[in-house]
Amino acid sequence: MTPFECDDRPKEECGVLGIYLPEGDAARSAFFGLFALQHRGQESAGIAVSDGSRVRYHKDMGLVSQVFTPEALASLKGNMAIGHTRYSTTGASVLRNAQPVFCQSVVGEIAVAHNGNVINAQELRKEMEANGEHFDSTSDSEILARMLVRHLDRGPEAAVSEVMRRVRGAYSVTVVTPKLLIGFRDPSGIRPLTAGRLGEGYMIASETCAFGPVGGVPERELEAGEMVIVDKTGMRFARGHEKEPGGMCLFEFIYFARPDSTMHGTLLYSARERMGENLALEHPVEADIVVPVPDSGIPAALGYSRVSGIPFREGMTKSRYIHRTFIAPDQRMREMGVRMKLTPLVEHLAGQRVILVDDSIVRGTTTKQIVKLMFESGAKEVHVRITAPPIEFPCFYGIDMASRNELAAARMNLKELEAYIGCTSLGYLSIEGAVKSVGTRGKENFCLACFNGKYPIPVPENLTKDAFDTAPPSGDASAIAPGQLVLLDS
Ligand code: SF4
Repeated sequence: MTPFECDDRPKEECGVLGIYLPEGDAARSAFFGLFALQHRGQESAGIAVSDGSRVRYHKDMGLVSQVFTPEALASLKGNMAIGHTRYSTTGASVLRNAQPVFCQSVVGEIAVAHNGNVINAQELRKEMEANGEHFDSTSDSEILARMLVRHLDRGPEAAVSEVMRRVRGAYSVTVVTPKLLIGFRDPSGIRPLTAGRLGEGYMIASETCAFGPVGGVPERELEAGEMVIVDKTGMRFARGHEKEPGGMCLFEFIYFARPDSTMHGTLLYSARERMGENLALEHPVEADIVVPVPDSGIPAALGYSRVSGIPFREGMTKSRYIHRTFIAPDQRMREMGVRMKLTPLVEHLAGQRVILVDDSIVRGTTTKQIVKLMFESGAKEVHVRITAPPIEFPCFYGIDMASRNELAAARMNLKELEAYIGCTSLGYLSIEGAVKSVGTRGKENFCLACFNGKYPIPVPENLTKDAFDTAPPSGDASAIAPGQLVLLDS
C-alpha cells in the first residue's frame, strides 16, 4: 500500500477494453474509452495496438490523461487496440506490473489486458518456471498471458479454452495479436465484460459506460466461460468452458461499476435507487432528512427518501479535485482525514435527525469520521444505512478489501459497530434485498462470498492463511497510520 491508498473502500482491480476498426486509429478510441474506465484503476494505464503485423504498446504509472501524451498516442498506429487501467491487488504497484502484458508467441507479438485475480497463480507459475518459462513481472496477469501464448499454435479458441481449463479465479481479458482481437470471461463470470459495435467495427469493454464516449453501442455481456473473437471477417462468439458455480460480483452493482453502466440488463443507477428503497423497507427510522455520502450514496439516498417520505437533502459536498496525489501528505493533512475530501453543509445539518446513506463499510474508519463530521455540524441523530450487506469475509477475486481481522463486520456485532462508529443506529441491506434490487435473477447468479463466506471458486490455503488470520488488529482501527491519508474514492 502506498501512503496514498488508505481509502477505506473496497477497490476494483482493473478496467479492460478492446477496439477493432476496419481501418483507422484504434489507439485514439481506446484512449477515450479508457477515460470512462478510469474509476476501475488509477495506478497505471496502457494501450497496445496492432497494425496487422506488429503489436506496439505504451504504458506507464499514472492516470490515463497523464500516461498518454499526444506524442505517445501518435506512436501507436494500427486498427486494433486493447487498453487497461490498473489498481494492483496482486503484484506490486510498479511499472513492470503495469498492463497490457506483452509477449512473443507463435503468431507474433501479443498483448493481454486482465481484470480479476488468478487464485492458483503460485502453483501455475512454479509449474511453468519448471518448464523453462521466464517471467518479467510479479503479476498474475503475466501467468495468464503466458499460458495463452503456450497454446496459440492450436488457434485462438483452443488456446482460450486451455486457459479456462487451467487458470482458476476471476478474469475478464482482452487480447490483441497481429491479426485478432479476443475477449473472454472466466467460467464463473465474476468480473464483467460486454461486446458491441463501433461503427463498422467492434468493441469490448469491462463496462458499457466505455462505449458511449467513442460512439460504440453495447450489444451483449459475454456469458461465463465465453469468448469473443474479432477479425476482418467479423465478430464471433464461442464457448471456452462450461459455466461453473458463481456469477457476477454483487459489489459491481453496489459500488464498483459506474452508475451509468448497465449490467444484467439493469442500469446501475436504477439498481442503486432500488437498494435505497429496499433499505428503507428493511430499516425504517423516524428522521428529518436523508443525506447521501457523495457521490456513490446519492441514488440509494433518493430511493430511501422516496419510500420513507423523508426529504432528501445534500449534507456535504465532495471535493472534485482530490484524488491520488504524488505529494506526500503531512501530519496536518493526515489529521484532517476525511475533511480533505468532504465539506459539511452545516446549515442543512444543524438540529436535524439525519439518515446517512452510504454503500459499504469495510474497516469502518471512514464511516466513523463522517459520522463525527455530522455531529460536529450540529446533527441531533445520525442513523447510518448501508446498501451493501455486512462484509465479513475477504475477497480473493480481484477486489482489494482487507483481511478478515480488519473487517469491521467480522470483528464486531451490530451494537459494537454502532458504538465504534458513533452513530445513533446502523442498518445494512440484506443479501436478499440487494439481489432483489438488481433484477429478477436469483442469488445463485452472483458471487456473494464476502457477505456469506461461500466462495464459488475454491481458494487455495496459501491465500486464505493470511487473509483469515484471526489475531486481533493491532491498535485502534480508527487511527490513521503514519504516512496514510484517509480519502474516499475519487
Ligand atoms: S467476494 Fe465480494 S467483492 Fe469479491 S467478487 Fe465476490 S462479491 Fe465481489
